[in-house]
Amino acid sequence: MSNESNGINRRAALGALGGLSAAAMAGSFAGSRAALSADQLGWDESKSEYTLPPLPYEPGALEPHIDEQTMSIHHDKHHAGYVKGLNKALGELEGIRTGSADPGLIKHWSRELAFNGSGHVNHTLFWTGMAPSSDGGGGRPGGALGERIDQDFGSFSQFVAHFKGASKAVEGSGWGWLVYEPIARRLMVIQMEKHQDLTVSGVSPLLGIDVWEHAYYLKYQNKRADYVDAFMNVVNWPEIERRFGMYTGH
Ligand code: MN
Repeated sequence: MSNESNGINRRAALGALGGLSAAAMAGSFAGSRAALSADQLGWDESKSEYTLPPLPYEPGALEPHIDEQTMSIHHDKHHAGYVKGLNKALGELEGIRTGSADPGLIKHWSRELAFNGSGHVNHTLFWTGMAPSSDGGGGRPGGALGERIDQDFGSFSQFVAHFKGASKAVEGSGWGWLVYEPIARRLMVIQMEKHQDLTVSGVSPLLGIDVWEHAYYLKYQNKRADYVDAFMNVVNWPEIERRFGMYTGH
Protein backbone atom coordinates (compact mmCIF):
# COMPACT_ATOMS: atom_id res chain seq x y z
CA MET A 1 0.00 0.00 0.00
CA SER A 2 1.35 3.41 -0.90
CA ASN A 3 1.83 6.14 1.65
CA GLU A 4 -0.62 8.25 -0.29
CA SER A 5 -3.46 5.74 -0.13
CA ASN A 6 -2.77 5.09 3.51
CA GLY A 7 -2.96 8.80 4.17
CA ILE A 8 -6.36 8.89 2.55
CA ASN A 9 -7.52 5.95 4.61
CA ARG A 10 -6.22 7.56 7.75
CA ARG A 11 -8.06 10.75 7.00
CA ALA A 12 -11.20 8.70 6.41
CA ALA A 13 -10.79 6.89 9.72
CA LEU A 14 -9.95 9.97 11.72
CA GLY A 15 -12.60 11.99 9.95
CA ALA A 16 -15.06 9.42 11.11
CA LEU A 17 -14.00 10.02 14.67
CA GLY A 18 -14.47 13.73 14.31
CA GLY A 19 -12.18 16.57 15.41
CA LEU A 20 -11.75 16.53 19.16
CA SER A 21 -12.71 12.88 19.32
CA ALA A 22 -9.91 11.88 17.01
CA ALA A 23 -7.35 13.73 19.07
CA ALA A 24 -8.61 12.18 22.28
CA MET A 25 -8.57 8.68 20.85
CA ALA A 26 -5.34 8.87 18.92
CA GLY A 27 -3.52 10.09 22.01
CA SER A 28 0.13 9.31 21.78
CA PHE A 29 -0.30 7.44 18.52
CA ALA A 30 -0.64 10.50 16.35
CA GLY A 31 2.30 10.00 14.03
CA SER A 32 2.51 11.72 10.68
CA ARG A 33 1.31 8.56 8.94
CA ALA A 34 -0.89 5.81 10.35
CA ALA A 35 0.24 2.20 10.51
CA LEU A 36 -3.30 0.97 9.92
CA SER A 37 -5.82 1.71 7.22
CA ALA A 38 -9.52 2.36 7.83
CA ASP A 39 -10.22 -1.13 6.46
CA GLN A 40 -7.79 -2.72 8.88
CA LEU A 41 -9.50 -0.85 11.72
CA GLY A 42 -12.86 -2.23 10.63
CA TRP A 43 -14.30 1.18 9.79
CA ASP A 44 -17.73 0.72 8.18
CA GLU A 45 -18.36 3.86 6.16
CA SER A 46 -22.02 3.02 5.49
CA LYS A 47 -22.85 2.65 9.19
CA SER A 48 -20.35 5.24 10.43
CA GLU A 49 -19.06 2.83 13.02
CA TYR A 50 -16.24 0.43 13.71
CA THR A 51 -16.53 -3.34 13.37
CA LEU A 52 -14.29 -6.02 14.87
CA PRO A 53 -11.59 -6.89 12.31
CA PRO A 54 -11.00 -10.66 12.01
CA LEU A 55 -7.79 -12.21 13.29
CA PRO A 56 -5.26 -12.40 10.42
CA TYR A 57 -4.66 -16.13 11.18
CA GLU A 58 -6.43 -19.01 12.93
CA PRO A 59 -6.71 -18.51 16.71
CA GLY A 60 -4.50 -21.58 17.31
CA ALA A 61 -1.84 -20.50 14.83
CA LEU A 62 0.47 -19.00 17.49
CA GLU A 63 0.62 -22.21 19.55
CA PRO A 64 2.53 -23.16 21.60
CA HIS A 65 3.58 -19.59 22.43
CA ILE A 66 0.06 -18.16 22.75
CA ASP A 67 -2.74 -20.68 23.18
CA GLU A 68 -5.88 -20.93 21.09
CA GLN A 69 -8.38 -20.42 23.92
CA THR A 70 -6.66 -17.24 25.07
CA MET A 71 -6.57 -15.89 21.52
CA SER A 72 -10.26 -16.68 20.94
CA ILE A 73 -11.48 -15.10 24.15
CA HIS A 74 -9.11 -12.16 23.81
CA HIS A 75 -10.22 -11.34 20.27
CA ASP A 76 -13.88 -12.40 20.28
CA LYS A 77 -14.77 -11.04 23.73
CA HIS A 78 -12.24 -8.47 24.93
CA HIS A 79 -11.40 -6.75 21.65
CA ALA A 80 -15.07 -6.90 20.62
CA GLY A 81 -15.92 -5.12 23.87
CA TYR A 82 -13.56 -2.24 23.04
CA VAL A 83 -15.10 -1.85 19.58
CA LYS A 84 -18.56 -1.76 21.12
CA GLY A 85 -17.42 0.73 23.75
CA LEU A 86 -15.78 2.93 21.11
CA ASN A 87 -18.96 3.08 19.02
CA LYS A 88 -21.01 3.81 22.13
CA ALA A 89 -18.73 6.67 23.16
CA LEU A 90 -18.74 8.16 19.66
CA GLY A 91 -22.53 7.98 19.58
CA GLU A 92 -22.93 9.61 22.97
CA LEU A 93 -20.52 12.41 22.06
CA GLU A 94 -22.45 12.99 18.86
CA GLY A 95 -25.60 13.11 20.98
CA ILE A 96 -24.02 15.78 23.17
CA ARG A 97 -23.13 17.83 20.09
CA THR A 98 -26.66 17.57 18.70
CA GLY A 99 -28.39 18.16 22.01
CA SER A 100 -29.89 14.71 22.61
CA ALA A 101 -27.46 13.61 25.33
CA ASP A 102 -26.39 15.08 28.66
CA PRO A 103 -23.52 17.56 28.13
CA GLY A 104 -22.55 17.03 31.75
CA LEU A 105 -21.27 13.60 30.74
CA ILE A 106 -18.76 14.86 28.17
CA LYS A 107 -15.84 14.03 30.49
CA HIS A 108 -17.14 10.51 31.08
CA TRP A 109 -17.65 9.76 27.38
CA SER A 110 -14.34 11.35 26.46
CA ARG A 111 -12.64 8.98 28.90
CA GLU A 112 -14.60 6.06 27.45
CA LEU A 113 -13.52 7.16 23.97
CA ALA A 114 -9.84 7.27 24.94
CA PHE A 115 -9.96 3.90 26.72
CA ASN A 116 -11.98 1.96 24.14
CA GLY A 117 -10.62 3.74 21.08
CA SER A 118 -7.05 3.10 22.17
CA GLY A 119 -8.01 -0.46 23.10
CA HIS A 120 -9.32 -0.99 19.58
CA VAL A 121 -6.25 0.47 17.86
CA ASN A 122 -3.83 -1.29 20.21
CA HIS A 123 -5.38 -4.72 19.67
CA THR A 124 -5.55 -4.26 15.90
CA LEU A 125 -1.83 -3.43 15.94
CA PHE A 126 -1.22 -6.36 18.31
CA TRP A 127 -2.84 -9.07 16.17
CA THR A 128 -1.15 -7.90 12.99
CA GLY A 129 2.14 -7.47 14.82
CA MET A 130 2.29 -11.22 15.37
CA ALA A 131 2.62 -14.12 12.94
CA PRO A 132 2.95 -17.91 13.29
CA SER A 133 6.51 -19.22 13.38
CA SER A 134 5.71 -21.06 10.14
CA ASP A 135 4.80 -17.75 8.49
CA GLY A 136 7.66 -15.46 9.40
CA GLY A 137 7.05 -14.99 13.13
CA GLY A 138 10.06 -14.56 15.39
CA GLY A 139 13.66 -13.96 14.46
CA ARG A 140 14.89 -10.41 14.14
CA PRO A 141 14.27 -7.43 11.91
CA GLY A 142 16.38 -6.59 8.90
CA GLY A 143 16.65 -3.58 6.63
CA ALA A 144 16.34 -0.02 7.86
CA LEU A 145 14.58 -1.02 11.07
CA GLY A 146 17.26 -3.52 11.99
CA GLU A 147 19.91 -0.86 11.45
CA ARG A 148 17.97 1.75 13.44
CA ILE A 149 17.52 -0.65 16.36
CA ASP A 150 21.30 -1.19 16.43
CA GLN A 151 21.86 2.57 16.27
CA ASP A 152 19.30 3.59 18.92
CA PHE A 153 19.57 0.70 21.37
CA GLY A 154 23.19 -0.37 20.85
CA SER A 155 22.26 -3.82 19.57
CA PHE A 156 19.25 -6.03 18.93
CA SER A 157 19.88 -7.93 22.16
CA GLN A 158 19.96 -4.68 24.14
CA PHE A 159 16.67 -3.67 22.52
CA VAL A 160 15.11 -7.04 23.41
CA ALA A 161 16.29 -6.74 27.01
CA HIS A 162 14.83 -3.21 27.26
CA PHE A 163 11.53 -4.18 25.58
CA LYS A 164 11.11 -7.31 27.71
CA GLY A 165 12.10 -5.51 30.90
CA ALA A 166 9.64 -2.67 30.33
CA SER A 167 6.83 -5.09 29.39
CA LYS A 168 7.38 -7.34 32.38
CA ALA A 169 7.43 -4.34 34.72
CA VAL A 170 4.20 -2.66 33.61
CA GLU A 171 2.27 -1.98 36.82
CA GLY A 172 -1.08 -3.74 36.59
CA SER A 173 -2.76 -3.83 33.18
CA GLY A 174 -1.07 -2.30 30.18
CA TRP A 175 1.30 -2.61 27.27
CA GLY A 176 4.93 -2.50 26.32
CA TRP A 177 5.68 -0.68 23.05
CA LEU A 178 8.46 -0.06 20.62
CA VAL A 179 7.62 3.32 19.09
CA TYR A 180 9.11 5.83 16.65
CA GLU A 181 9.49 9.42 17.78
CA PRO A 182 9.39 11.48 14.57
CA ILE A 183 10.90 14.74 15.81
CA ALA A 184 14.23 13.45 17.07
CA ARG A 185 13.71 10.58 14.59
CA ARG A 186 14.57 7.84 17.01
CA LEU A 187 13.12 4.66 18.43
CA MET A 188 11.94 4.41 22.02
CA VAL A 189 10.55 1.72 24.31
CA ILE A 190 7.66 2.91 26.45
CA GLN A 191 5.22 1.47 28.94
CA MET A 192 1.50 2.10 28.70
CA GLU A 193 -0.91 1.66 31.60
CA LYS A 194 -4.42 0.48 30.71
CA HIS A 195 -4.72 1.20 26.97
CA GLN A 196 -3.81 4.87 26.96
CA ASP A 197 -1.92 6.19 30.01
CA LEU A 198 1.76 7.04 30.55
CA THR A 199 2.58 7.29 26.88
CA VAL A 200 4.54 9.96 25.02
CA SER A 201 2.57 12.31 22.79
CA GLY A 202 3.33 12.24 19.10
CA VAL A 203 5.06 8.88 18.88
CA SER A 204 4.07 6.28 16.31
CA PRO A 205 3.46 2.64 17.31
CA LEU A 206 5.66 -0.10 15.92
CA LEU A 207 5.47 -3.20 18.13
CA GLY A 208 3.20 -3.67 21.11
CA ILE A 209 2.73 -6.48 23.60
CA ASP A 210 -0.48 -6.69 25.59
CA VAL A 211 0.40 -7.53 29.20
CA TRP A 212 -3.10 -7.39 30.63
CA GLU A 213 -3.70 -10.67 32.48
CA HIS A 214 -6.38 -11.61 29.93
CA ALA A 215 -3.58 -11.86 27.35
CA TYR A 216 -1.73 -14.68 29.12
CA TYR A 217 -3.33 -15.91 32.35
CA LEU A 218 -4.95 -19.11 31.04
CA LYS A 219 -1.61 -20.50 29.90
CA TYR A 220 0.97 -18.64 31.97
CA GLN A 221 -0.98 -17.73 35.14
CA ASN A 222 1.15 -15.29 37.17
CA LYS A 223 4.26 -15.89 35.07
CA ARG A 224 4.08 -12.81 32.85
CA ALA A 225 7.81 -12.99 32.22
CA ASP A 226 7.42 -16.38 30.50
CA TYR A 227 4.68 -14.95 28.28
CA VAL A 228 6.83 -11.95 27.34
CA ASP A 229 9.71 -14.29 26.47
CA ALA A 230 7.39 -16.46 24.35
CA PHE A 231 5.94 -13.42 22.57
CA MET A 232 9.31 -12.71 20.95
CA ASN A 233 8.91 -15.99 19.03
CA VAL A 234 5.84 -14.71 17.20
CA VAL A 235 6.79 -11.10 16.42
CA ASN A 236 5.87 -10.32 12.81
CA TRP A 237 9.05 -8.37 12.02
CA PRO A 238 8.24 -7.88 8.31
CA GLU A 239 5.05 -6.04 9.38
CA ILE A 240 6.96 -3.99 11.98
CA GLU A 241 9.51 -3.09 9.30
CA ARG A 242 6.62 -2.03 7.03
CA ARG A 243 5.27 0.28 9.75
CA PHE A 244 8.72 1.79 10.27
CA GLY A 245 8.87 2.42 6.53
CA MET A 246 5.48 4.13 6.62
CA TYR A 247 6.73 6.57 9.23
CA THR A 248 10.16 7.21 7.84
CA GLY A 249 9.78 6.78 4.10
CA HIS A 250 12.39 3.99 4.07
MN1 MN B 1 -6.03 -7.18 25.52
